Amino acid sequence: MTSNNNQPLSGDEMPRFGGPATMMRLPTADSSRDLDACFVGVPLDIGTSNRSGARFGPRQIRAESTLLRPYNMATRAAPFDSLQVADIGDVAVNTFSLQDSVKLIESAYHQILSDHCIPLTLGGDHTIVLPILRAVHGIHGPVGLVHVDAHADINDAMFGEKITHGTPFRRAVEEGLLLCDKVVQIGLRGTGYAADDFDWPREHGFRIATAEECWYKSLSPLMAEVREMMGESPVYISFDIDGLDPAFAPGTGTPEIGGLTIHQGLEIVRGCRSLNIVGCDLVEVSPPYDLSGNTSLTAANLLYEMLCVLPGVNYR
Ligand code: MN
Ligand code: MN
Repeated sequence: MTSNNNQPLSGDEMPRFGGPATMMRLPTADSSRDLDACFVGVPLDIGTSNRSGARFGPRQIRAESTLLRPYNMATRAAPFDSLQVADIGDVAVNTFSLQDSVKLIESAYHQILSDHCIPLTLGGDHTIVLPILRAVHGIHGPVGLVHVDAHADINDAMFGEKITHGTPFRRAVEEGLLLCDKVVQIGLRGTGYAADDFDWPREHGFRIATAEECWYKSLSPLMAEVREMMGESPVYISFDIDGLDPAFAPGTGTPEIGGLTIHQGLEIVRGCRSLNIVGCDLVEVSPPYDLSGNTSLTAANLLYEMLCVLPGVNYR
């Protein structure tokens, strides 16, 4: 049973290695008009502090998404039954100017959100979440945040710059874009500049679940706590692939050992079901460091899982 909505191209109509490599082999659309949700790429990596390459993330995530089928066997979600979804392509960033790119991204997302379309973003480095959250704030006001990452991304500045992939959530707090008592950061770990690096978010009311707190555990209880925390508030999901362990996701710019497992990543996203989600992203995939393609494959699957928990999705 399928609806008249857009459907991913079936492997029975065109072999999975053929045809256009849109996200999930969905139809493309020129804009977000009349869509309930869209996949959109932001091929930007000029905000990175170490390895670059995330500019190739959207293209490679799309390529690895061609194996995805429409029905979620684990959760029984059938997102294309009830949602009209398309791949609207990439935001035309200015690769010679981070400042200009940030403006271009905010403007593109303002349009998507004004169309009442939920963006599912293929990054791109984590800088892009700042203009996205600015646009989200313009439509929804301040939002709750589920942030998966090895890093808190709350630096005040990097090399003197206020806008980088390590600063977006500091700026978001300063600009009032977040409901600080409804922010959870999951998977934080690694070395820091100071012992209290993770205390700044705690002092601002964030719930921190370090990687060590997550080791050896199911994250379902944590996500029950997160759902309680979020209530009916609008929520944004920002998933930095380096939250996962580099054994699973080596293709990223700032890898940290001792990270989350694939299973925990799935539990986090699936645990967001029933939340009032207004946007999602999957960032920091760097295909030049993803020799097996597994990082992009994981990213594609996590983006699909995000689609499966959006408000209005049917479950069979
Ligand atoms: Mn990040
Ligand atoms: Mn990170």
